[in-house]
Amino acid sequence: MPADSFRRTKIIFTLGPATESEEMLARLIQAGADIVRLNMAHATHDWTRTVIRRIRAVSARVDRDVAIMMDIKGPEIRTGDLDVPIELKAGEIFDFTVKPGTTAGRGDSGEEVRSVDVNYQDLVNDIKVGDTVLVDNGLLRLEVLAKDEARIRCRVLIPGELKSRRHINLPGVNVNLPSFTEKDRRDSLVGLEEGIDYLALSFVRSARDVEGLREFLHHHGSHVRIVAKIEDQSAITNLDEIVTACDALMVARGDLGIECPFEELPVIQRRAVRACLAQARPVIVATHMLESMISQPVPTRAEITDVANAVFELADCVMLSGETTVGKYPLECVQMLDKIARRIESEDDNDIREPAVFTGERMKVLHAAVVLANELPHSKIISFTRHGFMAQGLAALRPARAPIFVFTHSPQVLRQLRLLRAVEPFLMPFASDPDATIENALIVLREAGRITPGDKLVIATDILSQDRLVDAVQLRTVR
Ligand code: PEP
Repeated sequence: MPADSFRRTKIIFTLGPATESEEMLARLIQAGADIVRLNMAHATHDWTRTVIRRIRAVSARVDRDVAIMMDIKGPEIRTGDLDVPIELKAGEIFDFTVKPGTTAGRGDSGEEVRSVDVNYQDLVNDIKVGDTVLVDNGLLRLEVLAKDEARIRCRVLIPGELKSRRHINLPGVNVNLPSFTEKDRRDSLVGLEEGIDYLALSFVRSARDVEGLREFLHHHGSHVRIVAKIEDQSAITNLDEIVTACDALMVARGDLGIECPFEELPVIQRRAVRACLAQARPVIVATHMLESMISQPVPTRAEITDVANAVFELADCVMLSGETTVGKYPLECVQMLDKIARRIESEDDNDIREPAVFTGERMKVLHAAVVLANELPHSKIISFTRHGFMAQGLAALRPARAPIFVFTHSPQVLRQLRLLRAVEPFLMPFASDPDATIENALIVLREAGRITPGDKLVIATDILSQDRLVDAVQLRTVR
């Protein structure tokens, strides 16, 4: 990849039947996909192990290591099994029952009220009269009229067909379920065994949810990084503390668009991107980016503008879901994101107004490096990182044009760096003398064609000074 064809925004795609073959994986990785997402809502453990090994093998074959993000399902409230779907009518009185074997209820005039089971007994405690129940991605809407310990009585506001095991959303209701379920624990252990790089935690409502997962990872000696998915109103209320607690944030617009008023969605996205920038956390904009490409070879004009908007907002990543799990044009979707991102990145008119908060001396040194790179033509930033934090700080400062070439000795950190905007990672052992490490890095970059004579190199690294390592910024010109 020549330096001038560098794409700053990273691409995540979700693996599914449309993309899980070796051939398709190779094509998507070669087309520039950076991270592969495994959606555990639809995955068995056998499938998970098989595809993780396949992704690693294909990455090695095409010589481009991608990151793997396991997206665990989190707490989910679902309707139970039905022998046949129920056609709900507008105005109909309908019951959700929380105790198995509850007999059919009676309406005001003694008529039998139709019902379905729900998999969460405490729902009767969490929900209030007047709350809204949305079923099947918001396709059905009901209002709560009354409740007792066995059932929640509702009126149907938006009618439709109710099928088995449909997802229930409860906008504004504080649901008392643990964010990390037993299924999540079992799925995560498979992921840790197979060497995933990121765990995405669904329905994060507070920093505590993230801290709980952090303890679990710590207990298992894992360096997997946590992506907090914000999907409901509690997450918006607690946004800043969630950003502080997580390693990366995902604006999960699918559920957010159901749980929050839809006109709030663009406002929430913008706020979330800025909150992440302020705290130097990478941020992913997810879901429905190229939805129409599930069945059509070209996106709508509105989808193109939506992707462009995320790039103008300076998000780190854009993400594909159904487009690459079951869509007819997965490769074209990755190519489309690549093309739109490159075009928008070539515009100087982006949304950054408030820079990251530079707490700590290291962040101030990194800021100096980015200011220098922004002032110089043909500048490239070079950095070295053991755990990824130096690179994360540089990326969060959103250099205007310079790419950030980051060297690490750790294969897992290399893959994790794929998530960061404008970062291109390289694997290299570090020499004991920092200066020798820099010289080795310059050899790698020259051989890869990433630096050419005349380039201004802004190097953010530790240097040895009187036997102490100190943060430093160097400026060198490539001869
Ligand atoms: C979303 O809701 O946008 C999302 C990414 O989560 P999931 O696909 O797991 O529901």
